[in-house]
Amino acid sequence: MTKTITCINCPLGCAITVTVEDGAVAAVTGQGCKRGAAYAAQELTAPARMVTTTLPAPGGVPALAPVKTASPIPKDQVLACMAALRQLRLTPPLRLGDQVAEFAGVPIVLTRDIGLADQHSGATLRSSGDCCVK
Ligand code: SF4
Repeated sequence: MTKTITCINCPLGCAITVTVEDGAVAAVTGQGCKRGAAYAAQELTAPARMVTTTLPAPGGVPALAPVKTASPIPKDQVLACMAALRQLRLTPPLRLGDQVAEFAGVPIVLTRDIGLADQHSGATLRSSGDCCVK
């Protein structure tokens, strides 16, 4: 099988042609660098994706906590991962990098701090006169 894909690793967007024989990469052409060759070979033999989403964090600031897989997971498991994550509710406070779950052995980690809402009450505007937007 021979297939041409567009590399998404940098703005050059090289068109890379990969030939797979008996499940193994036999030839890669068209790449501008080694990184693109590795990407294209993996795309055809074992595609993987990072998963990013938000999870409810009631009482937190923000109340939706951004999370991601710590590493790419097989592309055909992305929907199952999202379905599993959909069941979760987080309890703040939480810190950037905290592991909040695991899917197929891959940690799910926070990508920002989540504070407690009552610790942020002083940050609200006192009146509409404090706002510079008219
Ligand atoms: S092959 Fe290399 S140079 Fe070409 S788009 Fe991919 S990362 Fe960029």
